[in-house]
Amino acid sequence: MTHPLLDVLLAGGRRADRLTHAAEIPARDGESAPWPRWADPALVAGYRSLGVDQPWRHQVEAAEAAWSGRHVALATSTGSGKSLAFWLPALTSVRADTAATVLDAGRIESTLGRGSVLYICPTKALAADQLAGVQRVVDASGARDLRVATCDGDTGFEERCWVQDHADAVLTNPDFLHFSLLPNHRRWARLLRSLRYVIVDEGHAYRGVFGAHVALVLRRLTRLAAHYAPAGSRPPTVVVASATTAEPATTAGRLAGVPAEEIAVVDDDASPAGARTFALWEPPVRPGWDAAPVEGDLDPDDGPRRSATAETADLLADLVVHGARSLAFTRSRRGAETVATVTREHLRQVDPSLATRVAAYRGGYLPEERRALEEALRGGELRALATTNALELGVDISGLDAVLIAGWPGTRMSVWQQAGRAGRAGADGLVAFVAREDPLDTYLVRHPETLLDAPLEATVFDPTNPYVLAPHLCAAAAELPVRTEDLPSFGRPADVRSVLDVLVARGALRRRTSGWYWTHAQGAAGLTDLRGTGGVPVRVVEAETGRVLGTVDAGSADGQVHDGAVYVHQGETYVVEHLDLDDHVALVQRRGVDHGTWSRDVTSILIADQQEHVPGGGPAEELPATTRRSWGPVDWGVGPVEVTSQVVGYQRRRLPDLQVLGTESLDLPERTLQTTAVWWSVPAEVLDAAGLDAARVPGALHAAEHASIGMLPLLATCDRWDLGGVSTDMHVDTGRATVFVYDAYPGGAGFAERGYDVGATWLRATRDAIAGCACADGCPACVQSPKCGSFNEPLDKAGAVALLDALLAHAPG
Ligand SMILES: [Zn+2]
Ligand SMILES: [Zn+2]
Repeated sequence: MTHPLLDVLLAGGRRADRLTHAAEIPARDGESAPWPRWADPALVAGYRSLGVDQPWRHQVEAAEAAWSGRHVALATSTGSGKSLAFWLPALTSVRADTAATVLDAGRIESTLGRGSVLYICPTKALAADQLAGVQRVVDASGARDLRVATCDGDTGFEERCWVQDHADAVLTNPDFLHFSLLPNHRRWARLLRSLRYVIVDEGHAYRGVFGAHVALVLRRLTRLAAHYAPAGSRPPTVVVASATTAEPATTAGRLAGVPAEEIAVVDDDASPAGARTFALWEPPVRPGWDAAPVEGDLDPDDGPRRSATAETADLLADLVVHGARSLAFTRSRRGAETVATVTREHLRQVDPSLATRVAAYRGGYLPEERRALEEALRGGELRALATTNALELGVDISGLDAVLIAGWPGTRMSVWQQAGRAGRAGADGLVAFVAREDPLDTYLVRHPETLLDAPLEATVFDPTNPYVLAPHLCAAAAELPVRTEDLPSFGRPADVRSVLDVLVARGALRRRTSGWYWTHAQGAAGLTDLRGTGGVPVRVVEAETGRVLGTVDAGSADGQVHDGAVYVHQGETYVVEHLDLDDHVALVQRRGVDHGTWSRDVTSILIADQQEHVPGGGPAEELPATTRRSWGPVDWGVGPVEVTSQVVGYQRRRLPDLQVLGTESLDLPERTLQTTAVWWSVPAEVLDAAGLDAARVPGALHAAEHASIGMLPLLATCDRWDLGGVSTDMHVDTGRATVFVYDAYPGGAGFAERGYDVGATWLRATRDAIAGCACADGCPACVQSPKCGSFNEPLDKAGAVALLDALLAHAPG
C-alpha cells in the first residue's frame, strides 16, 4: 500500500501523469541483542534511562569488535544508532581507570593511565550535535568523571587549554586537526599518548579530493600518536562509521591507512524502519511550450518542462497544508532559497500562519542560525525546511513524514541518505525524487531500476594524488621530521620518496641523513586547506550593518559575488557593491531587484605533458604522463592538464522570464587549475562522416561536451559540479577537434580517469540521452548546461548525435 501522502502529491489525480514510478520499500523489524558484559554498568543504566532498553544487534557487533581492538567499518542507515556502537566501547574504556591493554604478545600490561578518545566528523555543527547526544548519556549515567568536549576553530584559548589538559573525549573536525591540533601536538601530548579510539564519523563524506586530504591527516595523526605512545602499546582502534556504502572495508582502510583485511565490517542493519513509498516524479511539460526553447537559454527554469524547483515548491506547500513535517533537498543554495520563498508564497494564499513555518537551510549560514532552524524543525515550530545537502550529513533530524529530493544529488548513496530522513519505526514515510531538466535526472526517472535497484557506489578518493600528498608531507615534516620508516604510512614508499625529492629540489624540505625536515619559520599546514576549494572563503557582508550574511567558496566567488551580482539570503535580495579579493569580502547592499545575474567566463586548457614545463610550477616531473588509445581515427587521452579560466562579465536577466536586461564586463584575474582531464579528438574524416560542415562543428562539440558531463556521474560517482569541460574545433595540442572533461580540483579526483576507462559506455549513454530527448533544438534535459560559462552558445543537438554516432562507429565491442 502506498503512503497516504502520495495522494497529496497526486492532488486527487490531477498530477497523476507526473508520477513515473512508485516503489514500496518494506518495513524492517528490529533485532536487539543483550548489552555486552564488559560495558560500563553506569553507561548501560544511562542508555536505559534514555529509553534504550537493549541495543540493536549491529550496534553490539560493532561495539564488540572495537572493544576487542579490531578496526571497524560500520556502514548502516541514517538513524540506526551508530553513535552507541562506538561510544559504548570508547567511554567504557575511558572509565576503566586502570586500562588493561592486550598486547600483541598476549601479555596484559597494567596501568597505561586513563585512555582518551578522538571523535572526528566533517563539520563543527555535527560535532556540536554529537556532543549534545553524548552529554545526555553521560548525564543520565551519573558518570561525572567523564569529560567530553568539542574543540575546533571556534573554541577560545582558555577552553582549549582545559580540553588539552583534561578532556577524555575530544570531538573535532579534520580541518582543526590539520591546522591546529597536529601542528601543536606538544600541547596535545596527553591526549595523543593515551589515545585508545579514533572515531571517524560520516565516513562517506570524505570522497574526492577532500577524502584524500582527510586520509593523509589521519596518517599524520597515527604517526604522532605512535610517537607519544608508551613503547609496546598498540595503536588506537579506528572506527569508521558511514552511510550504507559499497566496499566499506576498502574505503575505511584507505581512509584510516590500515589494510582492509584488518577491518571488521558491520553493515547488516538490525534497527527497525518504517515502510517507505519511493516516488519518481517528472515535472509536466509547461503549457504553451512550443518546442522552441529560448535561444541561448541558461536557466533550468526555461526548458520545455516545469523546473524541479517550482514543482518541489508546489509539492512542499501541499505537504505543509496537510500537516506533514517535511524536508526538500535541492542541488544548490539558490535552489534552497527559491523553494523556501515560493513555498511561503503559496502558503500565504492558503493560510498566512503556515507561511512562517517554512524556512531555507544551507551551508554558508552562520552556525547559530543553523542550530535555531534545526531546533525549530525538531520542535515542530517549523514544518518544512528547503535545504542543500548541508543537512544530508548527520544532523539529528529524522523521522519526518516526507522528503522531497529536487534533482539528483550526485550519488545513490546521497539519495538514500536523504531518503533516510523520512519515516521511522512504526511510522511510514514518503520520498519523492523530482527530476530536474538534466540528462541524468531524465534518464533516472525513466529507468527506475538504475536508481532503486543498482548497487551503491564505493566512495572514491585517491590519497596518492601528489598535489594532495605534497603539502601533507611538508606538514608532517614540520610536526616531526619524516624518517625513511615513515614512508609506507603515506603510500607506496617509492612514490612518496619521489614527491619528497621534488619538495627538496624546490626548497620546501631539507634532506638530512636522519630524515626530511621543514626548516621554514612559518607553519606548513597553511600550504593547503582540506576542502579542495583552494583558498580562503569569501565572506558576504552587509555594508550598512557589517553583518556577515554567509560565505562563498573561493573557487566560486568570482562567478557568484562579483561586483553587481545578485545574492539571495533567506528570500531577501542583495546586490554586491564590491568584491574585495585581497580581504576575501564581498560587500552587499539589500535591494529589492527584479533580476538575477549570470556570469560569463572564458576557459582554455593545455595538455601538461606536451608543454615544455607546467606553467605555474606544478611538480611536472612527478605527474603521470598522458595515457592514450585510439579507436581507428578517434584518439583518446587521459592525463594532467592546465585549465585557465577567467570570469569576464555577466548578464542581468529579468525574473522570472529571463529577458536580458543588460550585459556588463568585469575585470577579474585569470585562475589556473592543474588537474586531470579525459579527452577525445577526431580528424576531419569523422566530422565529414557525421555530415558536419565547419560552421556546425563548434555547436556539435559543445553540445556533446555538456551532455557527456551530465552523464559521467552515472558511471563515476561524482556529480556534474565536480567536473568542467572545454570543447574546441581545433586544439593546439591535439591539432584536431577535441572535447575535454576535467576534474574541477587541483591534481584531479579520479573522475576523469573513470571516464576514460568506461569511454564507450559513457559516450553511448550520452548519445542515447541526447537522441532520446523530445525537444527540438536542445534543452536542459539534454545538451544545455546550468553552469555553462558561455551562456549555452553555440549548441547543436542534432550535430552532437551525428558526431557521437560517427565516433562510436569506431568504438570496440
Ligand atoms: Zn532536450
Ligand atoms: Zn558550455
